[in-house]
Amino acid sequence: MPGLHIKQNDTVIVISGNEGPHGGQPGKRGRVLRVLPKKQQVVVEGVRIRTKHIRRPKVARASAMQQEGRIQMPAPIHRSNVMLICPRCDRPTRVRMRVTENRKRVRACRKCGQERDES
Ligand SMILES: [Zn+2]
Repeated sequence: MPGLHIKQNDTVIVISGNEGPHGGQPGKRGRVLRVLPKKQQVVVEGVRIRTKHIRRPKVARASAMQQEGRIQMPAPIHRSNVMLICPRCDRPTRVRMRVTENRKRVRACRKCGQERDES
């Protein structure tokens, strides 16, 4: 798969998406909470927050989750709508894959060369 190499806990910025309450909110940054490889989607903290209505919570968890029977959670967006932010140069970037001498695959920022483990 060409492209983004986005992983959980990466910081990404939303670069496109529909406007409005159901859109991806371009310009918004957040941490990747989950990657859904089959759907090519990512769940980004604070992006595309949906309110889910729960009629009858099955398990009693944090009290906040049970307020008025609603929970708020971010919905997945397609990964082509986000771009990785390099932790070093703090800019949206593309990554290239590199194989080190000891055969580890790392991701490298195309702008500053910052490398991160892929596995
Ligand atoms: Zn960089």
